[in-house]
Amino acid sequence: MKIGRIFTGLLLALLLAYPAVAEELEAIESIPVGKLKVLALTDARGSATAAILPELSRFPEYAPLFANGPLSVVNRAFYLEDGSRKILVDSGWGLEQQEKKGHLYALLKVAGIEPASITDVLLTHMDFDHIGGLVKDGKPYFDNATLWISQPEYEAWLAGNIQKRPEEKIKLAQDMAAIYKDRIKLFQFGSEILPGITAIDASGHTPGHTAYEIVSGPDKLVIGGDLMHIVEAQLPKPELSAIYDMDMEKAAQTRIRLLQQAVKDKSTFAGMHMEPISPVYERPDGGFMMRQPR
Ligand SMILES: [Zn+2]
Repeated sequence: MKIGRIFTGLLLALLLAYPAVAEELEAIESIPVGKLKVLALTDARGSATAAILPELSRFPEYAPLFANGPLSVVNRAFYLEDGSRKILVDSGWGLEQQEKKGHLYALLKVAGIEPASITDVLLTHMDFDHIGGLVKDGKPYFDNATLWISQPEYEAWLAGNIQKRPEEKIKLAQDMAAIYKDRIKLFQFGSEILPGITAIDASGHTPGHTAYEIVSGPDKLVIGGDLMHIVEAQLPKPELSAIYDMDMEKAAQTRIRLLQQAVKDKSTFAGMHMEPISPVYERPDGGFMMRQPR
């Protein structure tokens, strides 16, 4: 009886502990890009309803997508290692935001990456679900890192010239910028900001929204930031913009331009809120498709 109780206790402890560990391991995916080590880190999972794409009702064939309720949407950051350079692209939710807690810190720990070893953080943009992990207890979490932000993005948030975002999220971005101020480097679209990493104009979602093109050997990876929020509909119908896109028309043009370029370059394409990480293919009807997640 006693032994039985100990076993029950052990099993309970394992069940309580193991799913969390398993979840963290599952949330790390390795992407082959030349000689680089590249990891996709799923910081959190949220959900999205059809209301995110206001024009979706023009395409009734996509209504069944939501037949079983909201879709699951990932929130990702990426880690790139190139020799001594250790780079993060975005930083997830962080621990201090009310709505959700990100797993980025735990994932880095599981992957054996010390926060102090991060040399550079590249931001796709300054929305709260991308910058939250940068600050812990009012201090930089990546305290040796240079923080790279596109000039138009930085200037728009600092001036409060931001559409469709609540006051407190604008303040969160401004506070983060103040905390990192000595180590922020601004860049222009089109510049190679680090060897093999070029900043691509992906504006529309936000004024300085940036995609990163990473080249190593024959391989090319494009990290497209928030180019798509519901990939199941926006890949085949890239003209559909999300309510979160500050300039919906520009966001649609950008989406089409980047996807066309990825097809042409045979790039692997990834994003912060999309599950698939794969090359992009053109569909006969003008839309695009990608491979299902592995
Ligand atoms: Zn986002």
